Amino acid sequence: MTPPPFPGPPPLGVVVDLDDTLFPQAGYLAGAAAAVDRAAGTRGLDGEAVHAALAAELAAGSDTGGTIDRALLAAGVPARRLGEHVPALVAAFTGHRPARLAPYPGVAAALRALAAAAPLGCLTDGNPAMQAAKLAATGLGALLPAVVVTDALGGRGVRKPHPAGLRALAARLGVPADRLLVIGDRPAKDVAVAAAVGAHAVRVRQGEHAAAPDEPRAWAVVDDLPSAAAVALAVLAGTGSPAPV
Ligand SMILES: [Mg+2]
Repeated sequence: MTPPPFPGPPPLGVVVDLDDTLFPQAGYLAGAAAAVDRAAGTRGLDGEAVHAALAAELAAGSDTGGTIDRALLAAGVPARRLGEHVPALVAAFTGHRPARLAPYPGVAAALRALAAAAPLGCLTDGNPAMQAAKLAATGLGALLPAVVVTDALGGRGVRKPHPAGLRALAARLGVPADRLLVIGDRPAKDVAVAAAVGAHAVRVRQGEHAAAPDEPRAWAVVDDLPSAAAVALAVLAGTGSPAPV
């Protein structure tokens, strides 16, 4: 579907989300959950029960906080004993370091094309060490030298749609925040953070939140990152290198 005309002056830079925009987050979460199961087993807990409870918690939403506490309670661990187990299991979860996370098809080429056309950065929420590990495992790090992890700026309170991260990234890219085009999978985060600074967004309908309603509405809605890059390239204000003559 062709998007409507761009609703303002053309964007001067592009910002991409990481999880479920550049790679499928589900595979990462499954690996981190398996690390927790193993750690639970070594602590004398019922690894299978913890596995089932953790899978249910992650399916209910992967970014709510307190996931492991709730999973242990659901697996029958008494509340008074959470304190002796949770720190080690959280460490197992956050310490998961996959060697390789395959990006969605065509992502590397799409990022290369965007970077050739305009300043390009990545804005992501989450534990900074985990986000860095994910990006490294995708092999896309060299294509995204400007990365802002919101939690590193001010913890969970400045996660998207809080505008602090996008403003910080705009400053690093040397582009006014309201002239960035944000590409991401989550309307409530990626589309909303763009709106919070007066910028616009392309929603990529994939991953855990693929079925979420278009609220707030993005300027364009597409099915994958190469399609998002195509609509972005069509509206960028020619900020990249001039075409060869
Ligand atoms: Mg995402």
